[in-house]
Amino acid sequence: MKPLRVAVIGGSIAGLTAAGLLARGGHRVSVFERSAGPLAGRGAGIVTHPGLWAVLARCGSPVEPRDLGVSVEGRRVLDRDGRVVAERSLPQILAGWGRLYRLLLDQGPPEAIRYGATLAAIAHEGDEVVARFEDGTRITADLLVGADGQFSTVRAQVLPPVAPAYAGYVAWRAVVDAAILPEATRRAIGSHFAFCLPPGEQILAYPVPATDDGTGMGRRLNVVWYRPTEEAALAALLTDSGGVRHALSIPPGRIKPEILAAMRADAARILAPPFADVMRLAEQPFLQAILDIETPSMAPAPGIALLGDAAFVARPHVGMGATKAMEDAAALADALAATEGDVAAGLAAFDASRRPYGASVVARGRELGAYMQAQLRGAAEREAAERFRSPEAVMTWTAVPPQAGDRL
Ligand SMILES: Cc1cc2nc3c(=O)[nH]c(=O)nc-3n(C[C@H](O)[C@H](O)[C@H](O)COP(=O)(O)OP(=O)(O)OC[C@H]3O[C@@H](n4cnc5c(N)ncnc54)[C@H](O)[C@@H]3O)c2cc1C
Repeated sequence: MKPLRVAVIGGSIAGLTAAGLLARGGHRVSVFERSAGPLAGRGAGIVTHPGLWAVLARCGSPVEPRDLGVSVEGRRVLDRDGRVVAERSLPQILAGWGRLYRLLLDQGPPEAIRYGATLAAIAHEGDEVVARFEDGTRITADLLVGADGQFSTVRAQVLPPVAPAYAGYVAWRAVVDAAILPEATRRAIGSHFAFCLPPGEQILAYPVPATDDGTGMGRRLNVVWYRPTEEAALAALLTDSGGVRHALSIPPGRIKPEILAAMRADAARILAPPFADVMRLAEQPFLQAILDIETPSMAPAPGIALLGDAAFVARPHVGMGATKAMEDAAALADALAATEGDVAAGLAAFDASRRPYGASVVARGRELGAYMQAQLRGAAEREAAERFRSPEAVMTWTAVPPQAGDRL
């Protein structure tokens, strides 16, 4: 098989995985990343799944799944007073984003990454894809991989605008050193995937490792609080203390003090005490609007593939961002190997195998977030959402409403 010249745009989870696997497949791969140097994580958590472990091993990582992060035994739900009202065994391994990123970077060929390279435009010349960067440089490739995240320049160049759809609620997020939390709070939620379900909202927390290199024995608690928010109210929430309006998320340390104070007052009023403790003690919470992004094609033009968040962004309830990105990259490498480097056939096979999957993950995220989304709708929809939160509702759930005389 003739090696392909591959240009990967974006050097994060999807881009590094694609680069590593395509280089292992014998192709000549370069990565172009707009950041000036290796990425710095925000320290938040990543839920890992068996698909992620398998692709990481294929990339050459020697790390066993259990050493990727913190293992939790299962889930629990606390009521407003902090009592455990539901519990089940569901072992999961929760990693830090920085740990996964470092492992991928260590396996890839770092000399093939060009930092400070921001893609500006794409064109086709014969069978080649031409990429032009903001600094004026230009490269040609047989295959260009768009792994440049949710606001993908690659996608914007080759597809009609794919607008992020705001879901009607935001996530307050924070990462807190478990050592600063009261002992009772650590006991209540520090070793579980823990939830509290105030009316119309949802908060969850799970432990992640204290350091990115896997040596830290301590823990941090990753917390995500979903709150329905009218689109009109987003502007105020996402305008920072310096008056700058952020598009869809606002970074740690930039949220206006009065907005933080109001959030903490709400936490004390409506959350179980352990969750209110975490929101009170979190030094640098941050905020993001929840979105759905769906691309109509993962092979949108000759010689071009879209991977990871550039193709599909599902709501965080599914915890699939990193796993999906890595599996996309592995599927692309497999499709090109199966079609012996025939780019057109490989891209068609890749799109056919991964697009339905990406769409199904987005759909599942919508389903899991439907309760929060319903809160801004009319009273009838809110009432229906409330009914479908109960165990009884799922026992009688049928495709058509029961008719008079039906036996349930
Ligand atoms: C620094 C960072 C920290 C993150 N931390 C977390 C976390 O803690 N928890 C979590 O759940 N998710 C986190 N994410 C998001 C997570 O990586 C993704 O949701 C998921 O893993 C899919 O990854 P991706 O590689 O497709 O997209 P992303 O991780 O968004 O990566 C896209 C990459 O493309 C680069 N890029 C964008 N435009 C251009 C351009 N025009 N030219 C060149 N390069 C470009 C970006 O700089 C970025 O490195 C983080 C992402 C980043 C970039």
